[in-house]
Amino acid sequence: MSTIVFKGGMVVDGTGAPPSSGDVLISDGTIERVGVFEVPVDARVIDCRGLAVAPGFIDSHSHLDLQVLENRREKVAQGVTAEVVGNCGFSPYPAPPDRKLIHDFANGLFCGDTDWGWPTARAYLEQAARSTTTAVSSLVGHGSLRIARVGNQLGQLAERDLDWMEQTLSESLEEGACGFSTGLMYSPGASAPFAELERLCRVVARYGKTYSTHMRGYGDLLVEAVDEQLQLARRTGCRLQISHLQAVGPRNWNKQAVVLEKIENAAAEGLDVGFDCYPYIAGSTVLTQLLPQWALEGGINGLLARLTDGAERKRIAAETEASLEQGWTNILISSLETSFNRGSIGQTIAAIAASRGCEPVEVVFDLIEEEQGRVNMLEMNQSEANLRQTISHPLSCIISDGFYVKGRPHPRLYGTFPLLLGEVSRERGWLTLTTAVHKITEKPARRFSIPKRGRLDPGYFADVVVFDPGTVNSPASYETPALQPRGICHVFRNGVPILSEGVVGSSIANS
Ligand SMILES: [Zn+2]
Repeated sequence: MSTIVFKGGMVVDGTGAPPSSGDVLISDGTIERVGVFEVPVDARVIDCRGLAVAPGFIDSHSHLDLQVLENRREKVAQGVTAEVVGNCGFSPYPAPPDRKLIHDFANGLFCGDTDWGWPTARAYLEQAARSTTTAVSSLVGHGSLRIARVGNQLGQLAERDLDWMEQTLSESLEEGACGFSTGLMYSPGASAPFAELERLCRVVARYGKTYSTHMRGYGDLLVEAVDEQLQLARRTGCRLQISHLQAVGPRNWNKQAVVLEKIENAAAEGLDVGFDCYPYIAGSTVLTQLLPQWALEGGINGLLARLTDGAERKRIAAETEASLEQGWTNILISSLETSFNRGSIGQTIAAIAASRGCEPVEVVFDLIEEEQGRVNMLEMNQSEANLRQTISHPLSCIISDGFYVKGRPHPRLYGTFPLLLGEVSRERGWLTLTTAVHKITEKPARRFSIPKRGRLDPGYFADVVVFDPGTVNSPASYETPALQPRGICHVFRNGVPILSEGVVGSSIANS
């Protein structure tokens, strides 16, 4: 493999240290020199004058568990060269013999078909290691783990089932999974008692890996949810990463300061705790998330059966409305299956209700029935002031939380990292460029024990991004998300160019 020198750029090395002028030499897939040195005569020189040279970006909260196997372009175009998948309780392993169970559970976020599933972490990671675009780390999803053993059974599990989960988690961590994730707002994970989580977090602590959590609530239950997670970390000693921290809905916005203080105090007391956030006020997930999760006992078929029973339907409606934090005008449909409902994509639940002449909650039920549960939404959840606070907080990493949908994905899938460097840092001044780069390189590499990535330092893998700090940005919007970022000039992964002069390599799949 050839020797390449990135010459004359501003080196932002990922550590959070101030930028320096200097060159970066890579050879055989590894970074060899950083700083001032004589350029070898046989080296290929990339002129980086006026540009920033940084480590490849790490997306430490991705739901592209299946798409990382496809060498797609959306993340490459943003400068991403490593991803952590298996988030929010969803991992594509361990798959049960009846794979339909895990497909029904995870396809709302995985945007998958009916042909995937791996029996073990090793089997999945072996395949993921063949990706030419991204270095994949994977968390073991609690929901997947539970489903592999007991299907969609909810609540307290038998001792032998808990033993099996502990054992399988332990084997998965041995095989290379980087940690464990929970999704405590999704059935069946939501039904797990504290004691079950405590047992599993003890396993994570034993391996010194990371426990990442989509907590039980981010709105009305935010404070209690953070307390529970800090309690888990305190009792088990595991490293805790709170996923996409935010306060959902105007009535809860003031709670963010309260939980940040709790997290800061826990860190000061010695807990290994951090959190992450995406640089957008809107979130996105499956529409069934709005419902009480007990209604999903037995999976989507269980829910559909309950909705046909008048009394059950009423009860689910009452609970859905009572727990609604952001209001029907702030929830938009982002994807669904049938062509019949295609016109609803991009519309709010309130608007659909007005045009159908029914209650908003009935729109939710009708869409779930018409689409057999396969509906995704986008929710305007947060305040800008709160978003600034989490993004600029010293304990945060910045993530995409992106996933594909058959419809209109959240723009974070296409724009998170350029947006962070451009609009968020350069234009709004919420972060320095150095800090922004640190939060998408070395910091997540440390939180998720990703070896030899996230820094421009000799001996590290040659994952390098060259970008124009004056123009880098993302034009992706909620209305038109699938737009190419600006200002990302070169991306190298393991020393191989995967994007040059802003053009993604021809071997990389188009969407
Ligand atoms: Zn999540």
